[in-house]
Amino acid sequence: MSQYDPTLSVLGIPDHNIKVAFVCHEYRGNGVRRRQYHVIDAELTYRLTRCPLCGFEALHPNRFYTTHVRVLNGVEMPTVIALHKQRWRCHS
Ligand SMILES: [Zn+2]
Repeated sequence: MSQYDPTLSVLGIPDHNIKVAFVCHEYRGNGVRRRQYHVIDAELTYRLTRCPLCGFEALHPNRFYTTHVRVLNGVEMPTVIALHKQRWRCHS
């Protein structure tokens, strides 16, 4: 499924499996390193039918885990993507 996302296209991220939930401003860090960031909350999910390791159709979605990806875009305020990645579990 192809879907145009203006937030990701501005950053030059062509992945259509990433869905942006919301964008906010947030302070991160401690002391002198404390700065304001653009935080993009997004979800990376896709459909898998067969297990890439064993080949059986025994895959089930198994929650998400979150990574924080820094985007180097050269603007004054740094950008971080809080990316929730889909995990899969094989039952065979
Ligand atoms: Zn498997």
